[in-house]
Amino acid sequence: MEKRDEKNWPLPVSVHIPDDGDAGCFWEDREDRHHCGIDLYAEKGTPIFAIEEGEVVEIGIMTSPSMIGYWNKTYHLIVRGNSGIYYKYGEMGMTIPEKGSRVKKYDRIGEVGQVLNTEMIDNTSPKYIQALKEKNPAMLHLEIWGKYPVTDHKLYLGGNWFGSKKPPGLLDPLHYLHK
Ligand SMILES: [Zn+2]
Repeated sequence: MEKRDEKNWPLPVSVHIPDDGDAGCFWEDREDRHHCGIDLYAEKGTPIFAIEEGEVVEIGIMTSPSMIGYWNKTYHLIVRGNSGIYYKYGEMGMTIPEKGSRVKKYDRIGEVGQVLNTEMIDNTSPKYIQALKEKNPAMLHLEIWGKYPVTDHKLYLGGNWFGSKKPPGLLDPLHYLHK
């Protein structure tokens, strides 16, 4: 791995970071929900690297067809960084380290997955989902929190927040990412 100490970037490729108003931007208004992270579009199978050294504190199922029909199965992995920041890497096709293990900066922790099963998207799906149907829908969904991330399914589901106020501790990933 090349040395990239001064940077904080979770992919081996440089991709667009969505600006305010772009699809997949932080806290994007999706009518009945807001986006808790940013979407970094990359091909399915693209390696994902840890942004900061830390401990893997949680691995779980982020999306599955039993939750929502147009979803594929994907995983999330949460690293508590040495700085105290929590990184939730989401919509992963697979994860590598075990829960409880330590990861170094730029360790490979998994691969980009694909949440959307485009064949199952129809005109009853949310508008922002319909808009993604023709796009390459594989991405890293990245959330950054100043406290343990909320992952329960009351107000949080699949990277979105179903409340009008931001959950406490949720941070804008833009300030933590440097290509
Ligand atoms: Zn997302």
